[in-house]
Amino acid sequence: MSTGCLFCNIVARTTPAQIVYEDDLVLAFRDIRPVAPTHVLVIPKVHVVGIHDAGAEHVEVLGRVLLAARDVAEKMGLVGGYRLVFNQGADAGQSVHHLHCHVLGGRPMAWPPG
Ligand code: AMP
Repeated sequence: MSTGCLFCNIVARTTPAQIVYEDDLVLAFRDIRPVAPTHVLVIPKVHVVGIHDAGAEHVEVLGRVLLAARDVAEKMGLVGGYRLVFNQGADAGQSVHHLHCHVLGGRPMAWPPG
């Protein structure tokens, strides 16, 4: 828990969110400004700023984030495919400094991304 972190506050239920999945290590909730018909964020409950700050102690939780993202995509019916995105740092446009995986789907995705 990091004081003042928006996503830690969602984990603590002091900030509301539309939660779609939870287990002991991971939480998933709908993005407040969706950029695709399905847009869910999957986060570790533990505060990690971004993938750059993750260490060996986070191997299990990082794997669980990925598997939860896969399960959320399946639960949301994204049978045509989906995109998983981790924005790291300013150049990638990371705006919330608590590691999160965007699960995007429900429309065709362009490549390269903007
Ligand atoms: P990023 O720009 O990769 O750091 O992604 C942060 C995401 O968090 C953005 O897509 C925001 O729309 C989303 N977001 C910000 N505040 C909230 C919130 N209170 N509940 C859900 N999603 C949020």
